[in-house]
Amino acid sequence: MTTAQLHRDEAVRLTDVTMTYGSADNPTVALRGVSLALAAGTFTAIMGPSGSGKSTLLQCAAGLDEPTSGQVAIGGAPFPTTGEADVTVFRRDRIGFVFQQYNLIGHISVLDNVLLPIRLAGAGGRSDVSAARALLAELGLEHVAERLPAALSGGQQQRVAIARTLLARPAVLFADEPTGALDSASGRAVLALLRESCELHGRTVVMVTHDPVAAAWADSVVFLADGLVVDRLDRPDAAAVADRMTHLATGAAATSSVGV
Ligand code: ADP
Ligand code: MG
Repeated sequence: MTTAQLHRDEAVRLTDVTMTYGSADNPTVALRGVSLALAAGTFTAIMGPSGSGKSTLLQCAAGLDEPTSGQVAIGGAPFPTTGEADVTVFRRDRIGFVFQQYNLIGHISVLDNVLLPIRLAGAGGRSDVSAARALLAELGLEHVAERLPAALSGGQQQRVAIARTLLARPAVLFADEPTGALDSASGRAVLALLRESCELHGRTVVMVTHDPVAAAWADSVVFLADGLVVDRLDRPDAAAVADRMTHLATGAAATSSVGV
């Protein structure tokens, strides 16, 4: 069996990934050797104290940032090492990324926002427009398709941002605190949508959050502390997640008071 076959059902694999920012004489080590494998079609939440490396981990896994060392593979295929253009194509064919700030373009309609990446990639014909409208309808947003983003609530805007990402049918959807700026009802709608992309469409979702209630929507929670994976919880419930987070925070405080 080839390595590719062996890892066919594996959506994301990080092998001993490190990331150091800054200069040699004043480095910030954000990731200290993270190894992680996520099965295709699963929903994983990444949690950890502020500054523990969650966003860095997501950006390295999504190919938005290049690790200092270590390997990242998506669907069994390593990121190309043949230049930024190849990385961009690799990413475009496999990966979607959703940010806490929705990054919608203010002066074009919701529908045009959803179609923008596909148009930038040289497509966006009639079938793409139909697909975008169908996706908006599925998300309960068909009635706002012609409006400008500012006319929508935060939760609606985040769903538009997710629709924009989903239109490209990414195998893996990364989301960095997608509910961080939302009230709890809007947050629930976004989480339900992420959950559905796994269950109905077989996508793999990896979401950073600091909210135990949001994390409880995932199949499993990976806990980061100080640039390392320190714990993992399957079939999480909010109380168990909150409990682990409390211990993590206490552990980190104890480490830093004992350490350098
Ligand atoms: P989290 O998302 O868990 O809050 P981050 O991944 O954003 O953590 O940051 C991890 C560490 O790396 C922090 O110490 C942060 O200050 C540092 N860091 C993150 N991004 C950069 C950057 N672009 N330049 C320098 N340091 C950074
Ligand atoms: Mg972050």
